[in-house]
Amino acid sequence: MRLNFLSTGTEAGVPVYGCDCPVCGRARFDRAARRRPGGCLQVEAGAARLLVGGCPVPPVARPPAEGRLEGILLPGWGTGRLSGLHALHRGVGAPVPLLGPAPPADLDLVREPGLLRPLGIEPLQSLRLGPIDVRALPLAGGPEYGYALEHGEFRVVWLPGGPRLAARSLQALSRWVPDLLITGVDWEESAPGAAGEGTWSRLLSLQAALGARRTLITHVSHQLDRWRTGRMDGVPAGTEFARDGQRESSAAPGLTPAAGVERESAV
Ligand SMILES: [Zn+2]
Repeated sequence: MRLNFLSTGTEAGVPVYGCDCPVCGRARFDRAARRRPGGCLQVEAGAARLLVGGCPVPPVARPPAEGRLEGILLPGWGTGRLSGLHALHRGVGAPVPLLGPAPPADLDLVREPGLLRPLGIEPLQSLRLGPIDVRALPLAGGPEYGYALEHGEFRVVWLPGGPRLAARSLQALSRWVPDLLITGVDWEESAPGAAGEGTWSRLLSLQAALGARRTLITHVSHQLDRWRTGRMDGVPAGTEFARDGQRESSAAPGLTPAAGVERESAV
């Protein structure tokens, strides 16, 4: 299984329109400092593709040379998640399931016939999309879903905003042990704190509860980019900031299961 971070920003992206903070200023001339809006992750296994997180911007600049889109996993049905999907909806070929919590009936994508087939899925039920096992994870304090993804021995937990899994999701994932946790951090400008305090404490608690080997932070705002500039020592150990275009693979060194970690073998 391979992961490709198509976008790692909040819905505003970086640079933010109209903002003249140092991060946005730099991102206007430094492509590497830019973050496309929305936190969209492409997951690949063999020829199969999934998009996780919806797509506020078109998911790909041009169609992939190979592979088929087995489905799109949405945390919810907000317009920010859907705005990049209308071109795909007008495409031709095999229908593409658009999966998430129960879709509202007045949604354009529900009312207008097209390639995408909006469908509500049951939380915590195992579902197979191509070769990838998927489970929707209820979050604490909201109706949105995160997702657990598994292919072979590679396991990923993806969360749309902050590290807030519902108790029943945590229970379902006990001993599942993801290789990667991908999440935002509920970052508030006034309260970053040191590792173990404030904003990071929820992340560290979740990391420990899941037994995640490595954490990648996405949904990054320009304020968070500004805060972290020059102070990576303030970020908890084992966590890194994802960047647009970053790729991860189950074949990467360091992602093989750690010796001595007890892990359930199948969903
Ligand atoms: Zn800014």
